[in-house]
Amino acid sequence: MGGVMIVTGGSRGIGAATARLAATRGYAVCVNYRRERDAAERLAKEIGAGAIAVAGDVSDEGDVLRLFETVDRELGPVSALVNNAGIVDLGTRVEALTPARLQRMFAVNVFGSFLCAREAVKRMSRRHGGKGGVIVNLSSIAAKLGGPGEYVDYAAAKGAIDTFTVGLAKEVGDEGIRVNAVRPGIIRTEIHLSSGDPGRVERIGAAAPLGRPGKAEEVARVILWLASEESSYMSGALVDVSGGR
Ligand code: NAP
Repeated sequence: MGGVMIVTGGSRGIGAATARLAATRGYAVCVNYRRERDAAERLAKEIGAGAIAVAGDVSDEGDVLRLFETVDRELGPVSALVNNAGIVDLGTRVEALTPARLQRMFAVNVFGSFLCAREAVKRMSRRHGGKGGVIVNLSSIAAKLGGPGEYVDYAAAKGAIDTFTVGLAKEVGDEGIRVNAVRPGIIRTEIHLSSGDPGRVERIGAAAPLGRPGKAEEVARVILWLASEESSYMSGALVDVSGGR
């Protein structure tokens, strides 16, 4: 149990729930955040056990390098990466998508996860003298459903994460690294404030087979399970945590 875990976008929502649970399982946790310094530092203090809060935009290579170097210095080499930082945008149809929106959507959701995984592999891979590790990517059930009429761009970005998960798992499996993804359905977090549709969570949640939206903690438990030895023979899996959707 334990090790060093980086949770990107850990200042709130699923990331914060993951950081909290990870600390109870013995991890030294790095809570990465972009803007919410107070929230991230409060969380690191609350969970204790050597947790640190480190600023950095995952879509910025310099920030990602600084994030991993800070963790090397303060906690030791990362053994678990949770690629959680992610964004949506206002619900819209494809006709309204702009290059600026597409750029941001893919820069954070896709490039950010690639850059963080790259730095993690450099440290975890036995090929580079590491001791192995685990990577858990946050995809979305939208990758399967497509996000029609709302955000096909977000869904496509998460589709890229699914493919990345499958490919990277094969690339680094014999170097001691397991790579899996979780695909949450509708989870009650602040991400939905950016969709411009305040009733969305309850409406879509009620229509799910389990009849309600999920909680961040329900996703965090699956992330921690994928990070643990309990899932030691799983790699390249896309695990739906979607209330049956
Ligand atoms: P959230 O409450 O909005 O939290 C997202 C976190 O990511 C925040 O801490 C945010 O901090 C951070 N973040 C955003 N852009 C970042 C960047 N460029 N660099 C570093 N941090 C960044 O979202 P959530 O609902 O917990 O979602 C977490 C993950 O689950 C995302 O990947 C999301 O796509 C996925 N997911 C969520 C749901 C859902 O229904 N909630 C469903 C499917 C998938 P700042 O505000 O400071 O940037």
